[in-house]
Amino acid sequence: MSLNKEQKDELRIELESLCQQTAEQVKELEESSRPVSLDESIGRLSRMDAINQQNMNLARFESAKQRLALLEAALVRLNDKAYGDCILCKKPISWERLQAKPEALACIKCAS
Ligand SMILES: [Zn+2]
Repeated sequence: MSLNKEQKDELRIELESLCQQTAEQVKELEESSRPVSLDESIGRLSRMDAINQQNMNLARFESAKQRLALLEAALVRLNDKAYGDCILCKKPISWERLQAKPEALACIKCAS
């Protein structure tokens, strides 16, 4: 593995702050994706709007939850020798890619 200690420390800090941000997002989206109450005295159109909005938030909630799981897994994997290696071709993932997306499991070639 070609990552040195400084690089791993940098990624750890980045991952920890991303985890925190994403966890907050998950919490906010969870609240805004609650089912629209039928008792709410809003018109039919605004109710449709509210339902559309809720579905959008639900999709964003699901993807934020997925990202959080990946970020948490990456924090654990960071202690592993194999961290930073592509899970598909086993070659090291470029440093630029890890900086931009520290939870990446595959190199840019395999991911695209
Ligand atoms: Zn690869």
